Amino acid sequence: MSYIQFLGAAGVVTGSKHLIHVDNNGSQPLQVLVDCGLFQGQKEWRERNWQDLPVPANSIDAVILTHAHLDHSGWIPRLVKQGFHGPIYATPATIDLCSILLPDSGHLQEEDAAYYNKTRTSKHAPALPLYTMEEAQQCMTLFRPLNFDEAKQLTSALSLRFVRAAHILGSAMAEITLASNAKFSKLLFTGDIGRVRDTQTASGKVVRSGPTEGEDCDLLVMESTYGNRPHPHTDPRPELAELIRKTIQRGGSVIVPSFAVERTQKFLFLLKELMETGQVPRVPVHADSPMAIKAVQIFLKYTGEFSPETKALIEKYGSPLKWPNFHFDVTQDDSKKINDSTSPSIIVSSSGMVTGGRVLHHLMQRLPDPKNLILFIGFQAPGTRGFTIKNGAPEVKIFGQHVPIRAQVAALEQFSDHADTSELLEWLHTFKRAPSETYLVHGEPPAAAQLRDAMVKSLGWNVQVAAYCEKVQIG
Ligand SMILES: [Zn+2]
Repeated sequence: MSYIQFLGAAGVVTGSKHLIHVDNNGSQPLQVLVDCGLFQGQKEWRERNWQDLPVPANSIDAVILTHAHLDHSGWIPRLVKQGFHGPIYATPATIDLCSILLPDSGHLQEEDAAYYNKTRTSKHAPALPLYTMEEAQQCMTLFRPLNFDEAKQLTSALSLRFVRAAHILGSAMAEITLASNAKFSKLLFTGDIGRVRDTQTASGKVVRSGPTEGEDCDLLVMESTYGNRPHPHTDPRPELAELIRKTIQRGGSVIVPSFAVERTQKFLFLLKELMETGQVPRVPVHADSPMAIKAVQIFLKYTGEFSPETKALIEKYGSPLKWPNFHFDVTQDDSKKINDSTSPSIIVSSSGMVTGGRVLHHLMQRLPDPKNLILFIGFQAPGTRGFTIKNGAPEVKIFGQHVPIRAQVAALEQFSDHADTSELLEWLHTFKRAPSETYLVHGEPPAAAQLRDAMVKSLGWNVQVAAYCEKVQIG
């Protein structure tokens, strides 16, 4: 039997892993993994990062990676550590992003393990990293670039084409065509789906053209992150400027937990624009990430993917690395110096969901002071510290300590890189035909269920919510 098995991002928004198993008439089956992401957030899910897959890693022939976010890519070094040695197909921009994100993830895993060993707070002795920075660096040799819209025959049984997902730089949907003996010959895995073409409704949007329209498949595996929450469709800039102005007036600093790549650069361009137009005072801005400079360089390398608005900002202001008052803090010492300063500044630091990284130190110091502002510009998955802080908790645990939350907390939802329900439906209406079956993944249960109902009502399609480890027969 040929099947797809949902090994992650089913009932949850992280850990994307979908196994395609193609039966080969009794000889060695073909096995391909679409995405290979880390589980993040709640402990019950994170613990699955330590479990083996139901098939041996060395029996998987290839990995197809839709985009660089760690919840889609961050388990690759672990898979390689367990014996996978096949090719990993991704777009060139995704490979560039992974070359900084995966080693950084390995570094964070090592830091976590060292911290648990130092404080003896893990039940495992000694605590080990899921993988190291060096192991993450080594797995980059397995990556193979594939440009958008180029068909690639991976084996006689399976071919692959990436089409635009417009979610982040390099993000793609995987169109997979199976040899004709399968029940379903054309599969589409959306990965994460970006905002639709109408830029008026997506002020935070960078990626140019929206997801590729006019798709055509037998089986669709689609994300559902925002299946039950519409995005506000207003311009975020006036509110953003006011929040920052008021914080600076009362002598506070602004801490922005942000994904280091792309989201941070987008935000820096907006800040620059607000400062140049006098809407925000020119206080020091810190992009505090060990990847800060490389991230800017990758961002500027792929300007072809940007929306006209972002392109215009890049042309007008040039590289952020040369802007006065903007600091790119690469070393730990640079980062510590920010903490020494008591005058107002804006600190953009990762990780975006406060699960690790340097933002922890900044929050530890600034959360107890009501003068400061903690500003969220990205999705916060349940179970993360970001979710706790954003939802009004009185305190949060950082480095084993209970840190009181007295700073102002605000969130701007317009920066989302995910289409919401109305945008998803708008995109789905461009399909050439209804897929025979659709499975929703990458959503909390209420979001996936609500999107399923909306799709059934609006499109009349056969839609189901994927369950963890469920197998769907495809031939
Ligand atoms: Zn993503």
